Amino acid sequence: MNPSNSKLGKNAIVIGASMTGLITARVLCDHFERVTILERDSLPEGHLPRKGVPQGQHVHVLFSGGMKVIDGLFPGFSDELAENGSVVCDFARELCWYHAGVWKARPESGLVSYWQTRPFLESNLRRRLTSDTTVEIRGDCAVTQLNTNGDRSRVTGLVARCGDDGSTETLQADLIVDASGRGSQTPKWIESLGYQKPTETSVEVNIGYASRMYEPPDDTTRDWRIMAQYGTPPENKRTGYIFPIEGGRWLVSAVGFLRDHAPTDDQGYLEFARSMERPDFYDAIKDAKPLTPIAAYTFTANRWRHYDRLSRFPAGLLVIGDAISSFNPVYGQGMSAGALQAEQLRLTLQDCRGHGVPKDLHKEFFRKVAKIIEVPWMLATQSDFRYPGTVGKRPLHSKPLNWYLTGVLRLCSGNDRVTKLFYDVLHFTRKPTAFFRPSVLGAVLLQAFGPRDASAAAKQRPGRGS
Ligand SMILES: Cc1cc2nc3c(=O)[nH]c(=O)nc-3n(C[C@H](O)[C@H](O)[C@H](O)COP(=O)(O)OP(=O)(O)OC[C@H]3O[C@@H](n4cnc5c(N)ncnc54)[C@H](O)[C@@H]3O)c2cc1C
Repeated sequence: MNPSNSKLGKNAIVIGASMTGLITARVLCDHFERVTILERDSLPEGHLPRKGVPQGQHVHVLFSGGMKVIDGLFPGFSDELAENGSVVCDFARELCWYHAGVWKARPESGLVSYWQTRPFLESNLRRRLTSDTTVEIRGDCAVTQLNTNGDRSRVTGLVARCGDDGSTETLQADLIVDASGRGSQTPKWIESLGYQKPTETSVEVNIGYASRMYEPPDDTTRDWRIMAQYGTPPENKRTGYIFPIEGGRWLVSAVGFLRDHAPTDDQGYLEFARSMERPDFYDAIKDAKPLTPIAAYTFTANRWRHYDRLSRFPAGLLVIGDAISSFNPVYGQGMSAGALQAEQLRLTLQDCRGHGVPKDLHKEFFRKVAKIIEVPWMLATQSDFRYPGTVGKRPLHSKPLNWYLTGVLRLCSGNDRVTKLFYDVLHFTRKPTAFFRPSVLGAVLLQAFGPRDASAAAKQRPGRGS
């Protein structure tokens, strides 16, 4: 993929072998002679959840924008996923989604989506990375420290604790990319080197996931393959997902906002489902056969570390993915945002001329990445602010923007065009400014101030079409 043979350096190291780390390593291969990923966990052979990615037991959707980046770097990856067992669906037609008090229309969209567990997705990607490239993935290696040159202006390597005995290793690198997720130590590491930590914005939602796999019940009347049923703010804090996954199973997550979390015992779980705003999620799972215990996960806050605002940062170091920003997972954007950031890294490195990692590489990269983050951040936090109990600085435009976006969401019940537009934005294939096109603006205003439709959208059934 690299048009020139000249490499930027000998060694690059990625911290973390999760989704963003794997994609990032593929990008770095074109620019460094040797790329190594250091991962704290032991990496399982099969599609098993692991300690470093505890969210792996819960529903994960990968949007088209993210899949497009992966397919670009690993040609044919999505086809392979399907061959290996992922479930392929039309995102609009086969998804039955209750959101903002209405069921969305389900037009034929051509928006192909792939459904599987998170460990299945990650292990397929890991396999492709090792078969396509010479990247070395070292499990059981926890990075503990960064090393620098004499005046601490450049990171020159790191220290890691590796293997069963936890012996310390010192490794040299021309570039280190931290893809170690929300728990990233980079703020602490750079502070200890005399740099300022990035400022953080956080929006606290205290979400709880409770998930288990099911064997779907036989139901010849079911005309959907994916269900998402969101509670409508501010009263309803409970959401449910049913995702089809490899092996003909369902992965089901019951999610509660603001500490209203689902219990993890069988009876309590079903009661939680039954108490949701709509009966459809409960009806779908009540006769399904549980295949696993219920796993719980708590996510406290959307978090954005503003590396783009730092005036000083050491050369030879970048941060990417959840290590920069993580969003309320109910909107399913994290993996795609990480993939798009890796794609930005590809573009930034492609522009580098000559040998050696430019000392101000981080400036351009963090500036562009902040632009990528703005979209999922806005979509997630604006939605969260519809709950009065959400803690964070509400932008001045929050109320009017939420009023308008809720109008767009409600239009999705009966307007195929707006539904497709909404999905394009969600899938990172169109900018949210598309919501403000005159035709959409007019429809939102007409819906709000025009004559009322007697058949209230909230009473719809989750059927096909509008
Ligand atoms: C409940 C839940 C549901 C979600 N659902 C979705 C969804 O539907 N769609 C979606 O796109 N996203 C979803 N997300 C978000 C998604 O999981 C993350 O955005 C994504 O995993 C980020 O990937 P990452 O590679 O940046 O970080 P992570 O996945 O957090 O990976 C970090 C890796 O770094 C390793 N590591 C950490 N510290 C060190 C160290 N010091 N040395 C070496 N290795 C280290 C860890 O072991 C881990 O492997 C969800 C998140 C949660 C919590």
